[in-house]
Order: sequence, then C-alpha cells, then structure tokens
Amino acid sequence: MVSGPSGAGKDTLVEALKARHSRLLYSISSTTRAPRPGEQDAIDYFFLDRDEFIRRRTGDGFLEWREYNGHLYGTPRSFIDESLRAGFDVIMKPEVNGALAIKERYPGAVLIFLAPDKFSHLRRRLEARRTETNEQIAARMEIAHVEMTFVRSFDYLVINEQAHPEIAVDDLEAIVRAERFRIHRLPDNRITELENT
Ligand code: 5GP
Repeated sequence: MVSGPSGAGKDTLVEALKARHSRLLYSISSTTRAPRPGEQDAIDYFFLDRDEFIRRRTGDGFLEWREYNGHLYGTPRSFIDESLRAGFDVIMKPEVNGALAIKERYPGAVLIFLAPDKFSHLRRRLEARRTETNEQIAARMEIAHVEMTFVRSFDYLVINEQAHPEIAVDDLEAIVRAERFRIHRLPDNRITELENT
C-alpha cells in the first residue's frame, strides 16, 4: 500500500509502477467525491452517491472505509480477496488510517509511506493541478500535517523528489521486488525442496 499526504504524488507514481509490473493489480477504490476533470468511473474510482456507498458499506462490501475531507472512500472487499487468491500482488493507495486498518487484517501487507522532499511542495502540487478550491486545499494541508505523524507506523519511507520522480518509482519497484523474495511469501513446497536437497 502506498499512503501519504495528498499532493505527495501517489497517483502518478503508482501509475508508473503499474506500467512496470503486470502481476501487480491496482485495487480501484469507491468514493462519494465528484470525479475531477479527466477521471473515469471504474478506472480512477468507482464513483458512488452517498446512499449507494452506505448501502454497500452496510452489506460489508468494503475491507475498510474512511471519511476524508467530507467524502467517503472505501476499498472494495471482493476484488482484493479474488486477486490474492489468484496469486496476484495488489497495490492500493488508501489514506494512512485505511492503510493501517488493512495491515491489521492482512499482517503480510506492506505499507509504504510516500512523502514529499519538502512539505511546502504539497501545497504547490495541489495548486498546480487546479482541481480543488483554496478551501479544499487548506483542508487537505491540515489533514496532511496529521498524516505526516503516522510515518513511524509504516514499513518503508519513500521520498518523492520534486525534480526526480523517476527515483521514487525505482524505489517503489525495489521494494516490490525485495518483498517478493521474502521467505514467508514463498510457497512452502519450494522451501521444503531446498531443505531436502
Ligand atoms: P483523492 O480525493 O485525492 O482522490 O483522495 C483523498 C484521499 O483518500 C487520498 O489520501 C487517497 O489516498 C485516499 N483514498 C483513496 N481511496 C481510498 C480508500 O479506498 N480508502 C481509504 N481509507 N482512503 C482512500
């Protein structure tokens, strides 16, 4: 899971990482916020109205959900279960509380905190994308300050350098590659085979 404050570059970096790994499936979240220009339903998010979101939440359709800046966001449960069962790695980018909630349910989940090289870059990135009002940007910045205090609960810290985002993509890729070599992720029969040679 790639988490961290809004404006740290999660969307762009996860997009670049997905392009490099075919066995990495992206879990599309549901949200009640309106689509930004260019965002597509069932690609960027499943855009739901509040009633529908609550209906699915009541039906236990989300692995976790959170209210962020007045809107609801949730991770659909079925996609995660099916993808993991089929042997895929799943990547997602919930905010920090959601990431920690998923780690509790899936202790093997890997939590990556993505931070900007300078906190002031967050505001500049949010302003540059011109999708939020000044009030919304201010609210996101306030949440960002709180989110930064969660960094110690994560497994990895990746810094997205404003001038060299490709380094952060390499760093994320290195983490994915290294995690795949962990003994506890390998099939037990392969380890037994090694033990018996
Ligand atoms: P945005 O409106 O910028 O797309 O997302 C706002 C925040 O909600 C971001 O920090 C994003 O990572 C987070 N978010 C997106 N999907 C989910 C989700 O399914 N669960 C949780 N907990 N947070 C999410």
